[in-house]
Amino acid sequence: MGFMAWISSFISSQWNRLLLLSSAAFGDTAFWAYPQSTIDHSHFNFKEFLTHPAHLWSVNTTISFPGSPGFDDATARWTIFSPPTYNAAIRPGSEADIARVIKLASLYKFPFLTRGAGHGYSIALSDFQNGLALDLSQWKSLEIDQTAETVTIGPGVTISEVFDPLYEAGFQIRKSNVHETLKLNDLADNSWCSTESGTCGCPSLVGVTLGGGAGRYQGIHGLVIDALVSVRMVTAAGDLIEVSKESYPDLFWAIRGAGANFGVITSATYKVNRLVNQGNFLHADFYFSAEKSYDYFKIIEKLNYKFPANIATIVLINYNASTKSIQVGGNWVYFGPEKEGMKALQPVFDLGPISSVVSVVPYKKLLATTGGGYDTLVCQGHTNRDLYSLNQKTYSASGWQKGFDKMAKFFEEYPGGRNSALVFEVFPNQATLAVASDETAYPWREARGYIIGHFIWADGDTATATASNKVGLELRDELLLTSGYNEVSVFVNYARGDEGLESIYGRDKLPRLVELKKTWDPNNIFAYNNYPLPLEYPSKQRDEL
Ligand SMILES: Cc1cc2nc3c(=O)[nH]c(=O)nc-3n(C[C@H](O)[C@H](O)[C@H](O)COP(=O)(O)OP(=O)(O)OC[C@H]3O[C@@H](n4cnc5c(N)ncnc54)[C@H](O)[C@@H]3O)c2cc1C
Repeated sequence: MGFMAWISSFISSQWNRLLLLSSAAFGDTAFWAYPQSTIDHSHFNFKEFLTHPAHLWSVNTTISFPGSPGFDDATARWTIFSPPTYNAAIRPGSEADIARVIKLASLYKFPFLTRGAGHGYSIALSDFQNGLALDLSQWKSLEIDQTAETVTIGPGVTISEVFDPLYEAGFQIRKSNVHETLKLNDLADNSWCSTESGTCGCPSLVGVTLGGGAGRYQGIHGLVIDALVSVRMVTAAGDLIEVSKESYPDLFWAIRGAGANFGVITSATYKVNRLVNQGNFLHADFYFSAEKSYDYFKIIEKLNYKFPANIATIVLINYNASTKSIQVGGNWVYFGPEKEGMKALQPVFDLGPISSVVSVVPYKKLLATTGGGYDTLVCQGHTNRDLYSLNQKTYSASGWQKGFDKMAKFFEEYPGGRNSALVFEVFPNQATLAVASDETAYPWREARGYIIGHFIWADGDTATATASNKVGLELRDELLLTSGYNEVSVFVNYARGDEGLESIYGRDKLPRLVELKKTWDPNNIFAYNNYPLPLEYPSKQRDEL
């Protein structure tokens, strides 16, 4: 027998031995303490390990490897810039199999990354290399409880997949007590939660929820976490638990803002309420030429802290390939009677847009309506994308104009970057603020919107990639000055991953979060996500490690 063959047969016999040991121990209070130093984890043989019959995976579980069927779907990413990479993927068929993956990863110390819909875009995810994808994108269950007025979804359900069933059942998600506080019951508030505000239906709703879930409806419904009632979760110890205000309240606090650090969510239940006004609202899209940009920004700036709870708008600065020039787009949503909405939008009409499209639409059609199908464009996966974001408290016309000018120069100099955009999400936060800050781990309830520099380039176009990085960083520095914050702050869903712990999780929240991390994940099994929590605080930042 040659040396290589001997090595391979030796390793194989070791696998058999250790798998039998671990399988015997799968009762499941104790594992055999196999001498793990004998396994070289950087060359972990997932194929041999995962396909070993001793694991007894459930019949629905599928396992794939690079080049084998199903692998690409199970590991697909929205952005392929600075991505995590995988040597294997498992689509578990049961909660027991998820627990098994976690226990095995814990015992043999191989890296795994939970995948909802693959839309996380933080560069911190690229710390995960050659690991196992725990892909839950097939977990599409959705159950509406008419009596309890709740919806329970699986972790693979995307935002757009919730609209139709919920709407057909006559529901929307919202946090009803906030609604009463704001005395908005006469409004035609019509959408179930804020997440579609990003104009996109493709991320998983659970993935969005774990970081807070921001969006258009923050003014009247609060964040998505404010509608969350409970989750089922597999912990680092491999236990399946229900987490809610009554059951493990500390953990419930932590997962509402930093959820990906604590376990694998197998389902989530949200409060829903009956539709108001048949779920209809006023929707408007406008486009303005470049010379009107500042005047348009001024309209929004004037409203600033007077912004009513029931209006949200998204400013889009992008390149128009037909007119070959930069332009400003405005998407507005008014949760109230059409007549009132049209009155509120009068200053925008008066400025003389190049184009405007106004309609009354049911909330389930929001994504298809916004920007004439902008959702499909933005949801395009497998693309090089790099995003630089900030929270904003104030809306500044002069600040935004500086951003506009920077983008104009970028579009001029780098034609390869002309699918990029600068976005200002203007989301009033009355209902978000109505929930006490210490109620959840989410740290930025005072934010009244978000700034997103979204850069796109073709594979191999390194000049545009490099310029995008430079402009993205400059934009972040520049726009911070007028954002209403003294230092960079960004919630974890939108984080690029280079901002630092305090900028993402907030100084006030970190000590408690890190204590809970030590309690619930002492061996740091959930070590990879949009921005992993450390086990010590104060601690080294991710970038210093
Ligand atoms: C086009 C687009 C629109 C967006 N719009 C919004 C928006 O309106 N509001 C908003 O708040 N955010 C928005 N986001 C950000 C989004 O919330 C995050 O990117 C989120 O992490 C995506 O979750 P995912 O499951 O799709 O991605 P994945 O990459 O699969 O997961 C992201 C992170 O969450 C973890 N995770 C996912 N599912 C689970 C689970 N079941 N249990 C434990 N951990 C899990 C993963 O391990 C990973 O760390 C948007 C993102 C994109 C790309």
